[in-house]
Amino acid sequence: MSIVLVTGGSGLVGKAIQWVIENEPVGSRFGRKDREEWIFIGSKDGDLRDFDSTKRIFEKYRPTHVIHLAALVGGLFSNMKYKATFLRDNLLINDNVIELSHQYKVEKLVSCLSTCVFPDQVKYPLSESSVHLGPPHHSNFGYAHGKRLVDVQNHAYYEQYGDKFTSVIPTNIFGPWDNYDLEDSHVIPGLLHKCLLAKRNDTPFVISGTGKPLRQFIYSRDLAKLMVWALHEYDEIEPIILSPAEDEEVSIKDVSDAIVQAIGFQGDYRFDTSKADGQFRKPASNAKLLEKLGDFEFTPFASALQESADWFVQNYATARTGKVSSPQV
Ligand code: NAP
Ligand code: GDP
Repeated sequence: MSIVLVTGGSGLVGKAIQWVIENEPVGSRFGRKDREEWIFIGSKDGDLRDFDSTKRIFEKYRPTHVIHLAALVGGLFSNMKYKATFLRDNLLINDNVIELSHQYKVEKLVSCLSTCVFPDQVKYPLSESSVHLGPPHHSNFGYAHGKRLVDVQNHAYYEQYGDKFTSVIPTNIFGPWDNYDLEDSHVIPGLLHKCLLAKRNDTPFVISGTGKPLRQFIYSRDLAKLMVWALHEYDEIEPIILSPAEDEEVSIKDVSDAIVQAIGFQGDYRFDTSKADGQFRKPASNAKLLEKLGDFEFTPFASALQESADWFVQNYATARTGKVSSPQV
């Protein structure tokens, strides 16, 4: 019997993995295996920044496999404001989970990085071999360095102990159960919330920055399937990028137009160019993924966005729309 522990199980990606585990046929390439128990935990189950509290979780569940998602996560603007907190919280969480996975003889650990970890000045498209080739963009260097060290630790634990600890690198993610905070969130959930309020209050819909930057998005339920696949079939220590094709970049202006349509907003909208644009683009290659996996049918951006907007509107009362995931500083 295998026991798969998912840290960060109450967040955007964790809820998507739970959805996939409940909806994919048992034994399919993207579903759970027979004789496999899945456990999803959030911060209420223990603060992973604290070693003893993390140890209690490992002692309680004794996982054979771990998908490690838990992190202090925010979009561009919270990364710019809380660099030290993003660095330290993520260093502590990752170190505790990695060290305890070693102590409890976890057979496989899959941690989650982000395309923010890549160097700012580097050849595009991003590929797995360029993670450490230069400093990350200054807007999120705290978060980025915290995450990069997961890859360093994975290699160190493999070389010293033979541990099978690896990582995946998703591009920007969106979907149901996102963090819809108006300031400390990513662009899609933040703008969905702003657009819904503009519609309800008959006020303008204001988008931060120029709308020109490009991002490559992955739907959380597609990512969840790929992470379950990675747990079962991906066998390298090196990270693997999980993303749609590199030519599927979308401008923030196009994202805003799609949100206007998905929410059914008919008022004015404008760009607040006094706000930061962040990195202009960071397209990532999924060549390694397709080589290992074969083909994969990604959900088209427009339908994934519509499903996400519908979920948000239907679950507005209970969705994370407040300050709950802001760092405590
Ligand atoms: P999220 O929705 O903000 O969820 C974060 C999860 O981590 C929640 O389950 C949260 O628990 C848990 N958590 C945070 N601090 C914790 C702590 N100190 N102790 C225990 N649990 C803690 O984040 P997400 O978007 O799903 O992100 C999942 C992973 O994907 C992260 O590693 C992130 O870096 C990575 N990623 C995200 C994106 C993106 O666009 N969202 C892009 C690339 C990579 P509570 O719910 O109880 O607070
Ligand atoms: P990241 O920059 O890739 O880490 O991720 P974000 O999801 O924070 O995307 C940032 C891009 O969206 C930047 O170009 C922002 O200027 C733009 N943007 C526009 N409106 C918003 C918003 O309400 N929230 C966020 N986070 N970004 C926004």
